[in-house]
Amino acid sequence: MENNSRRKFISNTLTATVAVAVGAPLILNSNPASAATNSIFNPAEPFKFTQVPLPFKYADLEPSIDALTNEIHYTKHHTAYIKNVNDAIIAEKIPYTTEKEFFANASKLSAKARNNAGGAWNHNFFWESLKAPGATGPDGKLKDALTSAFGSVDKFKEEFGKAALGRFGSGWAWLVNDGGKLKIGSTANQDNPWFDNSELKGTPLLGLDVWEHAYYLKYQNKRADYITNFWNVVNWEQVAKRLG
Ligand code: MN
Repeated sequence: MENNSRRKFISNTLTATVAVAVGAPLILNSNPASAATNSIFNPAEPFKFTQVPLPFKYADLEPSIDALTNEIHYTKHHTAYIKNVNDAIIAEKIPYTTEKEFFANASKLSAKARNNAGGAWNHNFFWESLKAPGATGPDGKLKDALTSAFGSVDKFKEEFGKAALGRFGSGWAWLVNDGGKLKIGSTANQDNPWFDNSELKGTPLLGLDVWEHAYYLKYQNKRADYITNFWNVVNWEQVAKRLG
């Protein structure tokens, strides 16, 4: 009897393991929002969001983004998103096993899980989009793609700036690749273009945090100046890599 139930347990465990393995690649489909999930919550090894190491020193983006803003943004705001989403995963037994799977099911998540998952991923993406001033670019294939989509690189910056300035309240401006078409848009709060309920869809290539915590110490109410100076610290090589 004991052997039987043990076999049954092992058999169930194996089935569950296979379901996870089969479920995971589904989210890599071109339309992640349509992917069903077979993932199950694993209390022994819950999925965790992780914070990327900051790819520059706090002061490296001066004078465009000041050291204190970077430090508070990274060590307080971003760290809190990571902690809060990981707490929510355990408390709510969230079964998803990848970041994209989270976002493909964003509309089903609690506000705590959704907002903090977005905050965790968006800031990792943001830090990796930035580098010390002096960077050149965009050039090559990325420059051609921006020129073809928006008329010129300057015109692209102007349109992106409008999206960033026009986002009422807190949110993000994005450049995305939507099936080969470059688009500009914005999302509210910590939403991003991977969310199943986002109006803006596509693979993010560049994102700008326009929450007041991202600029208020240095720029106060002058979001437009923050946006203008953001262009001095964009890591174009990284954006080009994302375009592929
Ligand atoms: Mn932020």
